Amino acid sequence: MREILRMNNVSVHFPVKGGLPFLKRGVIQAVSDVSLTIAHGETYGIVGESGCGKTTLANAMIGMVKPTSGEVLFAGKDLLRLPKEEFKKARQKMQMIFQDPFSSLNPRFNVYQIVSEPMFIRGEDDQEAMIARVVELLELVGLSSEDLYRYPSDFSGGQRQRLGIARAISLNPSFLVCDEPVSALDVSIHAQILNLLVMIQEQMKLTYVFISHNLADVKNICDRMAVMYLGKVMESGSSDRIFKRPLHPYTQALLAAVLDTTFDEKREQIILQGDIPSPIDPPLGCRFWQRCPQAMEGCKTIPPEHLEVEDDHVVACHLVHGFPAVELPDGYDRPVESLKK
Ligand code: SF4
Repeated sequence: MREILRMNNVSVHFPVKGGLPFLKRGVIQAVSDVSLTIAHGETYGIVGESGCGKTTLANAMIGMVKPTSGEVLFAGKDLLRLPKEEFKKARQKMQMIFQDPFSSLNPRFNVYQIVSEPMFIRGEDDQEAMIARVVELLELVGLSSEDLYRYPSDFSGGQRQRLGIARAISLNPSFLVCDEPVSALDVSIHAQILNLLVMIQEQMKLTYVFISHNLADVKNICDRMAVMYLGKVMESGSSDRIFKRPLHPYTQALLAAVLDTTFDEKREQIILQGDIPSPIDPPLGCRFWQRCPQAMEGCKTIPPEHLEVEDDHVVACHLVHGFPAVELPDGYDRPVESLKK
């Protein structure tokens, strides 16, 4: 695998301030100890419930959020320790498509201003060349030169997302984060935008990080993926392997909840109880134990390690690889439910 991005033990914590400016009430552990690698030209999916840290993780990948600890290597270089000028150049290679095409475009800018803005910020000043480039980008995303001086309010949701895509690829990036790019669109437009993304990826040899709630989309377009829960990766690796044989109880619950005929196997429905705990005070052991239908006593205090169970399939669950060989109290492997009775 020729990697383009690697994250080593990345954590992103945000302080929670108290009533007075100098009072710190706690820390939101948005992302905790995440390690993953992304290969050149692949589409890497990140899935999980709202608030699980998907967007913060993606922001940390492209330097929009500074990790509290760990390292992010882009094309072999440590993004966090690059000199300012080199960091700026690396950032131009990493762009983002935002979830909401309604709020992500400045309503006072026309199409030319929106799409050329990144080139303008980079210091380009040849107006004619920029107009030619913007027209080329508009045609690539299915718009035309006639749209050049129109405003976002003149476009439908799908067309605005096309504009967002044109802006994101205007600097010829190699790495694109697609943050739920179709979740705010009508179902009829959904497939068109996904097809457009796939076409652009092939044409420009791009690497995508695709954040989504929609597991059917992830199954269709992602080569590899990570399943996140409360800031941690629960299962990761080849999407084919994870969809065929999900091993983590959380992944199993997510897949079982999908009503989609494109899934080959029918799965028994698993209804998770309760809500996601607060990231300010996450559970000590496995972060999923309070909702896991198969939780054991030991899961409450012993965090599971990430182990590769087969080629490119990593799982963090004691059910899969057992508890560590240390002295453990009696009953650590008894189901939590049976102890409650
Ligand atoms: Fe469930 Fe325990 Fe596995 Fe966590 S480690 S997913 S609580 S069985």
